[in-house]
Amino acid sequence: MSDPLRYHRDGRLSDPARAWDVPMVPLLCEACDWRYLAPAGSAMARPVDAGAPAICPHCAAPAVVMLDPQEAHFPYATAPELAVPFAVSTEAIDRRVEAFAEGIPYPPEDLTPAILRQRLQRLYLPMWLVDSDVEARWQAEVGFDYKVVSHQERYADGAGWQSKEVQEERVRWEPRVGKLARRYDNVPAPALGQHAQLSRALGTHEVDDGKPYRPELVEGALVRAPDRDPEAAWPDAEVGVRQRAVQECRSAAQADHIRDFRWSPRYAAQHWTLMLLPVYATYYRDDDGVPQRVLLNGETGKLYGAKRGSLARAGRVSMIIGIIAAVIFMLGLVLALLGAVAPPLLILGILGVILGLAIGVGAVIPLARVWAFNHRQAKGPERPGE
Ligand SMILES: [Zn+2]
Repeated sequence: MSDPLRYHRDGRLSDPARAWDVPMVPLLCEACDWRYLAPAGSAMARPVDAGAPAICPHCAAPAVVMLDPQEAHFPYATAPELAVPFAVSTEAIDRRVEAFAEGIPYPPEDLTPAILRQRLQRLYLPMWLVDSDVEARWQAEVGFDYKVVSHQERYADGAGWQSKEVQEERVRWEPRVGKLARRYDNVPAPALGQHAQLSRALGTHEVDDGKPYRPELVEGALVRAPDRDPEAAWPDAEVGVRQRAVQECRSAAQADHIRDFRWSPRYAAQHWTLMLLPVYATYYRDDDGVPQRVLLNGETGKLYGAKRGSLARAGRVSMIIGIIAAVIFMLGLVLALLGAVAPPLLILGILGVILGLAIGVGAVIPLARVWAFNHRQAKGPERPGE
């Protein structure tokens, strides 16, 4: 167990930088109110007067400002105990970005694997880990698998009576009561109010893959500061503690199943620490130059991004189709006029005019598609953290 989180009632730690082994400075996104910590001197941790604010990995607004470390105190801004390492190769990221772009009609020119790779920012999301002593009396029904062999008699025309062996799986249930006195370590619980939305979008992380914290892990990275108290997170952790206890009681009884588990636990000696979960953040600029965020699960590569088609690109395609339509229309018109002297050309001319008109109407399709797509996306249901 590394440096324990000194859990202060007022939610502040006396020396937030101490346990990180590198000086960390507080940052704030003024657009989405996300609070970060970054190693002092890193590209993200630039002073307010050092040009335009950095792009926020969460909302993609250029609104991340550095706060005065002397004045800003984030609650629980302490070093983590564990971090899940980044484990997605550049090639895998490129493939995810390509697949993402293919899901957008006329993706903006800025949305390419190479450009998004350049802007890749490593970001860690916090997760609480709690250790706790548990004492409880418990009762449950435990189940044991067994097989029943029976014979089915069947009469078939021509074959007479036939006997067939049938095996059936059954469970024998027995009541059990017991006492439990255990310490459970590293039970996870979300440290962010938006954790559920984020993991719906990005998938979960393998909490068991956490490695002990080393200062190198946060080099050049951003760490999202927790915004959820241990008190608020405890009910989630309690569910995890109970699951572990249930499985232990089942295996202590050497049973295959367990149900109707009831207990009256008493918890003591709780110890809270943080774990960091890796996320890659990047963005592309849409037609209006507005950054659109793209996030990837740093462990699995699962990608979530805001999807915006490019009306400019669709418009160029529409224009080319429109010009072709106009040329065919004009040719048709000329042929139709020539029809006055050479009547067979009249039919050809009319066909040309009709074809030109039809293609002309079709020319709006690319524009309409992108417009409708963007409209749908803007009203989409899944927008984590907004
Ligand atoms: Zn933001």
